Amino acid sequence: MNYTGTRGKYAISSSEAIARGIASDGGLFVPESFPALSDSEIKALVEMNYCERAKLVLSKYLTDFSESELDDCVKGAYCGTFDDDNPAPLREVDNKTFLLDLWHGPTCAFKDLALQLLPHLLTRSAKRTMSDKDIVILVATSGDTGKAALDGFADVPGVKIIVFYPENGVSAIQKLQMTTQTGNNVSVCAIKGNFDDAQTGVKNIFSDPEMIKKLSDNGLVFSSANSINFGRLVPQIIYYVSACCDLLKAGKLAPGEKFNVAVPTGNFGNILAAVYAKRMGIPVNKFICASNKNRILTDFIRTGTYDRNREFYLTSSPSMDILISSNLERMLYHLYDGNCAEVAKLMDSLKKEGKYTVSAEVLSKLQSEFWGGFCDDEAAEKAISKLFNEKNMLCDTHTAVAVDVVEQYRKETGDDTLCVMASTASAYKFAPAVLPAVFKGDMPEDGFKIIEKLSEVTATPIPAPLAGLDKREVLHKNCVEKSQMAEFILKTLLK
Ligand SMILES: *Cc1c(COP(=O)(O)O)cnc(C)c1O
Repeated sequence: MNYTGTRGKYAISSSEAIARGIASDGGLFVPESFPALSDSEIKALVEMNYCERAKLVLSKYLTDFSESELDDCVKGAYCGTFDDDNPAPLREVDNKTFLLDLWHGPTCAFKDLALQLLPHLLTRSAKRTMSDKDIVILVATSGDTGKAALDGFADVPGVKIIVFYPENGVSAIQKLQMTTQTGNNVSVCAIKGNFDDAQTGVKNIFSDPEMIKKLSDNGLVFSSANSINFGRLVPQIIYYVSACCDLLKAGKLAPGEKFNVAVPTGNFGNILAAVYAKRMGIPVNKFICASNKNRILTDFIRTGTYDRNREFYLTSSPSMDILISSNLERMLYHLYDGNCAEVAKLMDSLKKEGKYTVSAEVLSKLQSEFWGGFCDDEAAEKAISKLFNEKNMLCDTHTAVAVDVVEQYRKETGDDTLCVMASTASAYKFAPAVLPAVFKGDMPEDGFKIIEKLSEVTATPIPAPLAGLDKREVLHKNCVEKSQMAEFILKTLLK
């Protein structure tokens, strides 16, 4: 299996795609074709555990990894790192609605599923393709990626990691998770700007010839742990395949029967992984793309115009406060049947004018598979209340956006196909926004008292990685202007 680019042709191995992270022309790496899972393979997958399923799915994409390498990667990522034997278990809301709980990992958000595996994939990829260089992972985070990447890469030999987050764009708990990170190869820095500024800054630095040369002269090379890296995307395909297998195994779904997938979306990475699962043969009917008040994807799916010239809102689902959904570029590439020139044109227009419009044909293809919806913080809070009061189930503010949008979808379309909703974070990570939805008394003032109250009110345990966070020492206090990111990187690396 070779990998090519969304804006220009390449023919590189999966190792090279993962080690490089992003193409030199600014495009993203994509597989040349989608590997298929045959009916008999799906039958076999149903009987497997998560790690075995992971190995089979990965082996279809990472064809230059040996079986024993994949075995080591998967075991390192998923054995003993999650607080459940199955890193991605389903929770039944009713017999047509399931939550796919993706937050049992070390940082309590779904990013762990990819970022526990990525360091294993990346170090092996780099050894094969750029053996003499140390890797510098640059991360822009809206909150959850940063911590998950720090946890995955801390003290990994041959790797340094630098994380940028928007000073006022992450929750207090997310910030503490990052600023208390230990490890002799980690740096964390706030920027005066929003997530898109951080992401754009990082993307520009990746393709800045001067920066690349300065690093290279010092035996260093950039790579990415953001979902622009294919190594982030491929682990996410696994849990959609696994969810389908669990439904088949439990008899909730008949072989070949289609189901809907709803995903609370920001960068379009998680939902794109579900699209890849479908292209491999997993029977998905509709992708329900759920946005918060930053409804740029809803508007895109409804009109075919992607327009970032709009007000930016900070919401109770900060990991989705995004106006440049970078993985949408891969979706466009697939919708345009691999026409890189068209994709390059759209991306150029996004850069220059902040918007683009897809062709009528592409819009109709998009709408045949996707339904886009959004909700504001108030509706998300109501969704949390309702789920808790009616089903005694707790969900976080991001998942709540999907819960509300699925309800809108069902009302509007009458389609009651079984639906799997990605449940992307532990409610405890966003406790100050979740508690008011399930408790009407006085709010405790202190952030950690809120966590304790949430546990008391809902009779659910505080996840171990979050307990005691307030007692850890803050190790990272840097904050720079968005124009100073490159300077910070050089100062950190070449000191
Ligand atoms: C990152 C994140 C999202 C959005 O995922 P994308 O892949 O960017 O669409 C949703 N919920 C949570 C909790 C997240 O951390």
